[in-house]
Amino acid sequence: MNVRDSEHIIAELKEKENYTLSNDASNADLILINTCSVREKPVSKLFSEIGVFNKKKKPGAKIGVCGCSASHLGEEIFKRAPEVNFVLGARNVSKISQAIKEDKFLSVDIDYDESSYAFGEFRSSSYKAFVNISIGCDKKCTYCIVPNTRGEEISIPADLIAKEAEIATKNGAKEIFLLGQNVNNYGRRFSDKSHKKMDFSDLLEMISQIDEVQRIRFTSPHPLHMDDKFLSMFASNPKVCKSMHMPLQSGSTRVLEQMKRGYSKEWFLNRALKLREMIPEVSISTDIIVGFPGESEEDFKDTLDVVRQVRFEQIFSFKYSPRPLTRAAEFTNQVDPKVASARLQQLQELQQSILDEISQKHLNRVYEVYFEEKRDNGMLAGRSDNNALVQVEGKDEWLGEIKKVKITNPKRLSLYGEVVI
Ligand code: SAH
Ligand code: SF4
Repeated sequence: MNVRDSEHIIAELKEKENYTLSNDASNADLILINTCSVREKPVSKLFSEIGVFNKKKKPGAKIGVCGCSASHLGEEIFKRAPEVNFVLGARNVSKISQAIKEDKFLSVDIDYDESSYAFGEFRSSSYKAFVNISIGCDKKCTYCIVPNTRGEEISIPADLIAKEAEIATKNGAKEIFLLGQNVNNYGRRFSDKSHKKMDFSDLLEMISQIDEVQRIRFTSPHPLHMDDKFLSMFASNPKVCKSMHMPLQSGSTRVLEQMKRGYSKEWFLNRALKLREMIPEVSISTDIIVGFPGESEEDFKDTLDVVRQVRFEQIFSFKYSPRPLTRAAEFTNQVDPKVASARLQQLQELQQSILDEISQKHLNRVYEVYFEEKRDNGMLAGRSDNNALVQVEGKDEWLGEIKKVKITNPKRLSLYGEVVI
């Protein structure tokens, strides 16, 4: 979502203010830092980055801090870093033109409604188009700062989403990547009360009817909302790529309750295993937090158990990081960071061994790969429908094309192969 916010900011500045992009901070008129705040580390990095840019920048150049850390730190950023010219929250992106013109501009209102704002068109990749389908989040997971930085959940009107997808595909993108904190809760609330009733399955159906759209991906769906209707739509729509992100967070029902995730270990396993049964080639990725307050050895074993049973193709794993404005930060049973680090390592080692086994199943398989990037190693890289990273020796004109690739050398993090006609 941050990447998409950056694209929106760039689009506004290019179209309305005649800015161009520069890779050279010492020559730029404006330096923007778009921030995350989901864990503590990026926040502490922010102030050291401001210092670095302040030294590099030319006289008179402005520095702006945008995104989630801007939302929750607000005014404090000016106090700690007086060299910052403006602070623009994650839900105030459309005010960027105003921000660059006013002295010490501050806009961090998390109730500000940008859901119907038609941003200009800028994309860092012409092959894959990120499209927001909602802003904010109504869940109140006790560890998570996002509802306090991005505000309440509002769905973006379906016609705006369709229009964006049409423009992006006309400009060459074959893949539409739908974004939201809870995508499968789409339609929960529209600003315009007269908006047609629609859920996420209806939205996917609508996007897949755009002829030029060849692939649809989305993130993040919430396991709680993975009902049978959602799973069968996912399985049956040929344009919807067969890779699902299922953020587990913890495998322990007790911890999930403390996190206020709204589902149990059994529900998660039932959904994931049903998905594997319905679509044998599906890949499933997840997010896991270790060391959540009160997580016992027993709870952690439940997480390892789910990992063993589901055999995720990819895991994003994090040590719990206490965040301001969250309930879990107040819990008195915080886990010793050393214990959390050891658990993180154990989880990652288990995943590596699973990946070693999984990668071998790709040998000699043929996948349709959408080539999106030329790597520094000179190889063309792209993703299979089920999201495996595939690399081949190939011609530049294959970029933006979907080709069949036979896997000849599967590795843990990338599959190597050759194009077959
Ligand atoms: N809406 C998405 C999550 C967005 S935040 C969802 O519900 O899945 C991305 C990930 O960051 C989360 O899935 C979680 O694993 C991680 N995360 C969020 N808050 C965290 C915290 N306080 N400490 C560690 N990891 C956290
Ligand atoms: Fe955070 Fe939970 Fe909302 Fe995801 S669903 S953004 S983890 S509060």
